[in-house]
Amino acid sequence: MTKLALLGGPQTRTQPFPAYRTIGAEEKAAVSRVMDTGCLSKYLGAHHEDFMGGPEVRAFEADWAAAMGAKHALAVNSASSGLHAAIGAAGVGPGDEVIVTPWSITVSATAPMVFGAVPVFADIDPNTWTLDPASIAARLTPRTKAIIVVHIFGQAADMDPVMRLAGERGLTVIEDCAQIPFGRYKGRAVGTLGHMGVFSLNYHKHIHTGEGGVVTTNDARLAERVALIRNHAEAVVAGRGVTDLNNMLGFNFRMGEIEAAIGRCQLAKGPSLIEARLDNVRRLEARLNGLPELHIPVPREGDKHVYYVHAFRFDARRAGIDRDLYVEAVKAELPLTEGREGEGVLVRAGYVKPIYLQPMFRDQICFGGTRYPFQGPHYAGRQDYRPGLCPHAEAANADIIIHELMRPPMTDADIADVATAFHKVHDNLDQLRDLARTRKAA
Ligand SMILES: *Cc1c(COP(=O)(O)O)cnc(C)c1O
Repeated sequence: MTKLALLGGPQTRTQPFPAYRTIGAEEKAAVSRVMDTGCLSKYLGAHHEDFMGGPEVRAFEADWAAAMGAKHALAVNSASSGLHAAIGAAGVGPGDEVIVTPWSITVSATAPMVFGAVPVFADIDPNTWTLDPASIAARLTPRTKAIIVVHIFGQAADMDPVMRLAGERGLTVIEDCAQIPFGRYKGRAVGTLGHMGVFSLNYHKHIHTGEGGVVTTNDARLAERVALIRNHAEAVVAGRGVTDLNNMLGFNFRMGEIEAAIGRCQLAKGPSLIEARLDNVRRLEARLNGLPELHIPVPREGDKHVYYVHAFRFDARRAGIDRDLYVEAVKAELPLTEGREGEGVLVRAGYVKPIYLQPMFRDQICFGGTRYPFQGPHYAGRQDYRPGLCPHAEAANADIIIHELMRPPMTDADIADVATAFHKVHDNLDQLRDLARTRKAA
């Protein structure tokens, strides 16, 4: 019997894991090329040929559209901006409801509020953590205008039933693709299954430009509306002859030429970076499959899950200890990751508290001291963002374990160390049961 590191025994590994670093010589050359032109952004916020940006932005958009199989791609300065632009383009406004997920980054649910609409939370499927179509159906009302579906962790939501529901009622579906570049649902590219897809290029995503995002669509009218909202819409619409003025409050969501040039390099590298990640996931799963306390979800047939994070469900009954102590013990066995030392070992007990439990929703106070957009003469519905609203989302956070120890350039030997840590904890669960008893008594 070996002593667990948590109890003072030797760590499985002390040498740091390698950093996930996608920026290299290609990006450096691309940045130099832009620097040599002296033009770091060519946008004009007016009805003019430069309304659609400079050469790098346009080339990046063409590359992105081709790679993702979309007719239109619009570069923006973040996925958050992209979600706001997509909601605006959909014509969502005060009095409308938008179905959202409680299990994501906050902006996936708050984007509709900027246009005065109310988020209505549907529950998630406990095995994919994506929106459950049956729960969406149960929460539709005559006020529902759109649905924001998040392909969380790199796995596609069940889009066919979502699109059927939307089609019956004329709803706009926005796919939040921030965690699923190059992903597929039943063989089809995500970002083109709904009416608009929104991708992120922030530093933490599969590929990045520091900050950035892209909106994809096959609909020319939506593409034009996104382009307007991105670039000072109200200053431009008259010159362009756009007459449906709703939601044409303009923003500056524009991406610069340097980010676009970097984005073209990153886009080209994306597929091989993802294949390397998938190889590591397969290696790790092969080694962890026998552990009864870890449930490893199997992706839907025909899907391409791109593993933004790798997630398990923890069976506390089979382990005989609680999830948090198990994760504490696994983390104690493993080293930090280069470049992210401040975040600790990249294994986490839990993902997010359901978004509706945040104070803004609980108190229904957002803009100033008023209850707009949650309550008021503009809105005929009433939301109650109480605990218990989405039981699966609330339960999910109690049994999920996520980690990022599968990103390239992690090697087979690195992956073996990760697996060894889990196995060591598994083989010594009795030490943790003793520890739990001691802690309880103290
Ligand atoms: C990262 C992320 C976003 C926001 O992306 P930014 O580019 O940082 O604005 C939105 N949705 C999900 C699911 C994300 O993971």
